[in-house]
Formats: sequence, structure tokens, C-alpha cells
Amino acid sequence: MPPGLGFDPRDVVARKRDGEEVDPAQLRAFIVGYGRGDVPDYLAAAFLMASFIRGLSIAETAEITRAMVDSGITLPLAGVSRPKVDKHSTGGVSDGVTLVFAPVAAALGLAVAKLSGRGLGHTGGTLDKLESIPGLRTDLTPEELERQVEEVGCAVAGQSKDLVPADGAFYALRDATATVASIPLIAASVMSKKLAVGADLILLDVKAGSGAFMKTPEAAADLAETCVGLAAHWGRSIRAAVTDMSQPLGSAIGNALDVAEAVRVLRGEERGRLRELTIEFVAEALAQIAGRDRSAAAAGAERALDDGSAAEAFARMIRAQGGDPRVVDDPWGVLPAAPVRKTVVADAAGHLAAVDAEALGRAAVALGAGRVRKGDQVDPAVGIEFLSKIGDRLACGDTVAVVHARDEEGGAEAAERVRAAMTLVGEPVEAPRLVFAWHGGSAP
Ligand code: URA
Repeated sequence: MPPGLGFDPRDVVARKRDGEEVDPAQLRAFIVGYGRGDVPDYLAAAFLMASFIRGLSIAETAEITRAMVDSGITLPLAGVSRPKVDKHSTGGVSDGVTLVFAPVAAALGLAVAKLSGRGLGHTGGTLDKLESIPGLRTDLTPEELERQVEEVGCAVAGQSKDLVPADGAFYALRDATATVASIPLIAASVMSKKLAVGADLILLDVKAGSGAFMKTPEAAADLAETCVGLAAHWGRSIRAAVTDMSQPLGSAIGNALDVAEAVRVLRGEERGRLRELTIEFVAEALAQIAGRDRSAAAAGAERALDDGSAAEAFARMIRAQGGDPRVVDDPWGVLPAAPVRKTVVADAAGHLAAVDAEALGRAAVALGAGRVRKGDQVDPAVGIEFLSKIGDRLACGDTVAVVHARDEEGGAEAAERVRAAMTLVGEPVEAPRLVFAWHGGSAP
């Protein structure tokens, strides 16, 4: 029996393996124990797979969430004077909303203190993206995070040894053991990071479609309701939108590429679904916690993107976290670029009807933009720019993507994967909806 646990952790795994409810005290000790290093990787991996296959009850999901929050300290943000909003995505491909949302919200008088994650499975991670900016730190101490939010209006940091360390440990293990796409495990992971920080409003972007962990809007609605239930249990205000991930949201799938795209949106240079979804979340935040009219709030967000104030807020955040703020004026003067570029062209004419966004995410991981094994280093420079959207009419020979690779061989393989991820049809296709539904509400 490992010291300090008081029970045999194999019993927790065995109960889950057999589809039985785990004793709450043992479940809690198991989760906290893994975060501390008292439970070995092999047992935690077995627990994750048993939970993935057998499922977890609402009570078990709440207990895991609580144990993750309690594995570290909490950050009430009492010293922050502005209304506080936190936003989190359940994971997607070319999902740069956080990079744009945080500065826009800060420019409009809100405070955003955000604990983000790294790339998970085929999805990108905000921390990996931000760390492609030379010098930038995401390992902020709780004090640094709070001070920066008060002074700058936004900060994006990772969970740490102080903040939800058990989520950090399980997150990396799930990534390495094919146990990510589970509603209770995602809900506990996301919500532990949100509950540990004292925002007035939690906004969740629950992705649905080929590039999300939840492949249908119905499954994403179940995940949204699980998260809403956890927030209600803790008496916290939450709004969760189920949004489209049937194709990459923006065009950049990588790390530096995502930052460069976020900068273009922040400078008002790029229209499209990434900008639209960010405005939707900013408007929801302003309507919910500042009582603003929703369309006036959306117009305010548009203005912040077009008048340079959001870009300035981004530069302040980057500088405060030690990064090179010139990334806002001249992204490719600062960001690392890959040595090989391969243009991918349509090999037939047609209308783009479907995109396997998970396959595109996996192609980017194979290029080095994500991790295959726990602890792998990501390559900030590589990735894919996927330039087409569902509904586009393509002529044979049109450029559909540009692959950024370390070498010719990797580039050629990714280009093949990009071509295979696209379905072209003869008849016109409608663009998919961006937002399916909102869930949740304010705490009493
Ligand atoms: N984001 C998280 O923080 N955790 C997950 O499990 C998925 C997305």
C-alpha cells in the first residue's frame, strides 16, 4: 500500500473496472494522490481507461472535480476590481478564441484570469500556442496572475503545482493514453480549472463535430449540461455554448501559426468564423455580468477589434508575461517559422461538403505541433494553414492549404492527409451554423 493513502489504490481501479461506484473518500485520495506522485502512472492510466469505458456517475464526477480543485490552492481574485470572466473551450482544431477573447474583453473593461491547457489529443492548446512567442511565460504564480489581471485586464497561465496540480497530472496522462474523449473526464478537467479561480461568470465553448471530442451537437449538449450541473453544485454562474467544430474554426492549425492568425484578427485584418465566435462570447460576457444590451456589446467588441484597442491589450498581456510584444506589429519578425512550405491544391472541382478536422489535427500533431508521448516538446513553427471552408466552391488547382514542416518528407505526408480529409461534391453546400445552443444561467 503506498504510504499516506490508507487503502490499496488497486481497489479503486477494480471497482471502476467492474462498473461499480467508487467510495468518495477513496476516489478523492486517489485523485489527490496521483497529483502528488503517491499513485503510480500505471494505476492512474488503468483508472482512466476503466472510467472511460464504464463511465462515471454524477457524484463521482463531482468528487473528482472537487479533489482536483482541492489538490492545490484556490484564487478568489479578491484584489481584482473589474467584473471577472473566465472562458474555456472543450477542445478543437484551429480554435484560437481564447487568444482573441481575453484581450478584447480586457479592452472593454472586463478582467480575464484564465487557466488554460496544452494540446490534448488532436486538439491545440492555448499554452503551447502562447509559448511560441519568444520569452513568454505561462507558469505564473497565483500572485503574479492576480496582479497582472488587475493591472493589464487579462492573463493566461497554466495550472501549476499550486493551482489544480491533479488536473495537470491527469491531463498529461489522458493525452498519452487515448482517454480524453469522455464527458465526465473532460467536465472534471475543465471545471476544476474554472472553479479554482473566482470569476463572476464562467463561459464555456463546448465544441461539436469532426474536430471536437464530442462528435455531435447532442453529445456536446450532454457535456455542456454536465459542466452546468457542476457549476450549479458550486453556486457559480455559467453559460455554455455548443458551437460548430465540423471544420477548423480559423485557418491556422499549429502554434506560431495560431498566434499569427490571432494577431490578424486582433488587428481587425481578418474576418470569418474565429472573429464571429469571439464576438459572440464577448457579447455574452458583457450582457451577463455588465448588464449590457447584447447587440450593443457585440458592436463594442467589433470596435475593439477594428480600432486597435484589442491589439494593444494583447501586447500588454504578452509584455507582462515576458513575451516579445513586437509580435503584434510584425508577427513573423518574432515567431519561429518552419523551413519547408508545401502548397496543397484541389485535385478536382467541387463544393467542399465535409472536413475531417480531427484528421487535420492529427496531421499537425504528426508534423510536431502536438505531443505523441507525455512530456514531448512541441515544435512551435510547424502546422497547417487550411484555407477552405465548408460551402466553398473550389476549382481544380485552387490552393486549399499550406503545410509548414520541418522537412520535405513530413510536409509531403501532411499534404496527403490534408487532401484525404476533404470531401468535395457536385452540388452547392450550405455553411454550417456557428452556434447551436446556449446552456446554463446565472447563480441565484
Ligand atoms: N480542456 C480541458 O481543460 N480539459 C479537457 O479535458 C478538455 C479540454
